[in-house]
Amino acid sequence: MNLQELVDISNYYGSDEEIVLLGGGNTSVKDKDYLYVKASGTSLKTISAEGFVKMSRAKLVQIWTKDYPLEVKAREAEVLADLMDARETDEKRPSVETFLHDLFPQKYVVHTHPTLVNALTCAKEGESWAKRLFGEDLLWIPPTMPGYTLASNVRTMLAQHKESTGKDANILFMANHGVFVAANDVEEIKTIMDNILDTIKKQIDTKTEEKINNLLSIGWDKFAGKYGIFTPDHYVYRGNEKLFEDSVKIAVYAEFFGGSQPMPEWLTDFIADWEVENYRKKQNNQE
Ligand SMILES: [Zn+2]
Repeated sequence: MNLQELVDISNYYGSDEEIVLLGGGNTSVKDKDYLYVKASGTSLKTISAEGFVKMSRAKLVQIWTKDYPLEVKAREAEVLADLMDARETDEKRPSVETFLHDLFPQKYVVHTHPTLVNALTCAKEGESWAKRLFGEDLLWIPPTMPGYTLASNVRTMLAQHKESTGKDANILFMANHGVFVAANDVEEIKTIMDNILDTIKKQIDTKTEEKINNLLSIGWDKFAGKYGIFTPDHYVYRGNEKLFEDSVKIAVYAEFFGGSQPMPEWLTDFIADWEVENYRKKQNNQE
């Protein structure tokens, strides 16, 4: 399969700091048999065709018919082993969000953590605002344990949406995390993403700069003590200047959507412990 369009759209979003910070986020393209998904630890900004991992879709769907241990760590270890086993050719490690990419039937999937989107996904009234702004075709998933549980819940939601509307959902907002956009061509991805960002921007007062600067001046520790931690990235890369700024903007922008809401503590604890996140951190950047 020709990966050029996937490479181009990955570089396009990877170079846009409104959408991708520190290279975080991931992209994929698929046909009937294979999914090419960004390798963990690769930056969208500079990724080339070699930065994607070829996955067998027949193997990826096998996880849905398997019985996994109930104990979370044992289960995640087995799911991870099955993920690695679904690779076709590579030593590279596929993105932690590979199963989600495969669940969307559309050809292209772009997953990012834009500040503006997280102003909604980290807001107390984020879900109702999201539905109001983007209609019922948008899927919203509350804070969920990553890995198998998240993929399994999204799978159920996508199936329910298809059954009730006859359509494949193309936008998924993940509370305290980010957004998935899916479409059969890259231009449509851009149209959907532009619309999401423009629509949210319109809801936010332009006079936020002073508030942002005030919060930046109190420093990360004080800020996190007051507002908590918003998304996995803000935990994994805490101390990073850009993500501190991102947190501050989310806090200020979320005031237009009922005020900010941090990740629940059980989720932060889980992320702290999660082997896959530890791996990401060791790669010292990008998921
Ligand atoms: Zn993500």
